[in-house]
Amino acid sequence: MKFLSKNPQETQQIARDFLKNLKPNTSAATIVGLYGDLGSGKTTFTQFIAKELGIEETVASPTFVIEKIYKLNNHPHFTHLIHIDAYRLESGAELEVLGWRDITSESGNLIFLEWPEKVEEILPVALEKMYFKFIDENTREIDIIE
Ligand code: ADP
Ligand code: MG
Repeated sequence: MKFLSKNPQETQQIARDFLKNLKPNTSAATIVGLYGDLGSGKTTFTQFIAKELGIEETVASPTFVIEKIYKLNNHPHFTHLIHIDAYRLESGAELEVLGWRDITSESGNLIFLEWPEKVEEILPVALEKMYFKFIDENTREIDIIE
């Protein structure tokens, strides 16, 4: 489903609805791949997801961190939100060093992965995909692939 967000508040509402409609994977982690150029809103979207899940601390852009893990205390299914930015990675092997296999085998993990195309060879088949596009200063297109 394609959305046109006219400002960050609209993106927050899209994140809220996305979370509400998200069907958790019960046999492994739920993984959402966020595609789109720099500045298209991938991190902003993930920050709104975190806020919706009750995470108080600011979710800094993990471009320099690569991976951030937040513990969730009040969610009926998920125990952790994991935000990964693969922008600086050269291959999937670098994510495996960070424990990708263990992280993705746990069904309590909800993973948002920016730049999934950088680690294409380790992506699971059951990857939810979102495409972000910069339209103008305040407008972003957000396409959620079912
Ligand atoms: P990415 O992670 O894709 O590189 P960021 O989320 O870091 O992008 O940056 C997106 C920038 O665009 C933020 O500064 C955000 O405030 C701004 N922005 C402007 N309009 C919107 C909108 N409608 N939705 C989301 N972000 C927006
Ligand atoms: Mg980002």
